[in-house]
Amino acid sequence: MTVKTHFLKLNTNKNFEIIDITSSINELIDIEEGIISIFSRHSTSAIVVNENESGLLKDFELTLDNLIADDFSYNHDRIDNNAKSHLKSFLLSSSECLPIKNGNLELGTWQSVFFVELDGPRRNRTITLTMVGE
Ligand code: ZN
Repeated sequence: MTVKTHFLKLNTNKNFEIIDITSSINELIDIEEGIISIFSRHSTSAIVVNENESGLLKDFELTLDNLIADDFSYNHDRIDNNAKSHLKSFLLSSSECLPIKNGNLELGTWQSVFFVELDGPRRNRTITLTMVGE
């Protein structure tokens, strides 16, 4: 059994952005079989697995906007004007743990892995990839 760690760096271009990182992760996988932890080191972002269909991704953005009201006086905005970004991140997840088979992510036919930017644009967003297997 071996443990390998890689870092995936991203620059984002918009305040809210969903970036499909499936192929970037597959390029960095260097074990044949095991599991991979995909972890975003930022509290205003998320890692999610879902279908890469443009209408659905827009629906995801609209749903988050509906859940986290715009016209509310959030406490965190007193020190750092991005409470909404943190709150959306709280509702999602900072990591996913997924299976690897034949040197690639073993996803369902309609599944992709996404990095969700919730407070962009940002430079050097860092995603830690930790693989365990052989
Ligand atoms: Zn903040």
